[in-house]
Amino acid sequence: MFNLILFGPPGSGKGTQSEKLIEKYGLKHLSTGDLLRSEIANQTALGLEAKKIMDKGHLVPDEVVIGMISSAMEQHPNAKGFLFDGFPRTASQAEALDKLLALNNEEIAVMLALEVGEEELVKRLMKRGETSGRSDDTNESVIRARIVEYLQKTTAVADYYHTFDKVKLIKGEGTIDEIFSALCKEIDEKL
Ligand code: AMP
Repeated sequence: MFNLILFGPPGSGKGTQSEKLIEKYGLKHLSTGDLLRSEIANQTALGLEAKKIMDKGHLVPDEVVIGMISSAMEQHPNAKGFLFDGFPRTASQAEALDKLLALNNEEIAVMLALEVGEEELVKRLMKRGETSGRSDDTNESVIRARIVEYLQKTTAVADYYHTFDKVKLIKGEGTIDEIFSALCKEIDEKL
């Protein structure tokens, strides 16, 4: 299996690049944001609780997203590999993911971290809010709260994978194709 984490702040292009990467490498895309939005669309109890938190720009509790990822992984026992997008977002999530993978003698091959400046992120997310239908993309204070959550809690995930020498930094500004090529180059080196 080839398992990779696409890492970066909200608006750094993880969703766009994930679509291209799963097509090229045949990986299964696991996005906790997408899984949560599908719970919201289905109006499940979990979705209704999660929506209140997401609309404030805060993180959903670790046990909720870890449970979702664990069952999504179980549903795809024959996957060639997983591309984790928007997960892990805390050090505890990272540890839980490593344990889940280790159950099957698997591990994360690489974390690709997209780097984009804060003002560019806000600009991109406000623009995405015009068409995404996402309530957390339309309000600048919610967008800034999401970036603060990222800086306070999620950068610890990169520190965690740094200790295993698994982090590759990628410039997340430029054209979609330029960024995609930079990501592919790193992946091809690990394959
Ligand atoms: P995203 O689509 O990845 O930008 O996620 C949208 C929102 O879903 C985030 O602002 C969080 O409220 C929630 N969320 C998504 N993934 C996670 C995660 N791994 N841990 C906690 N909350 C998450």
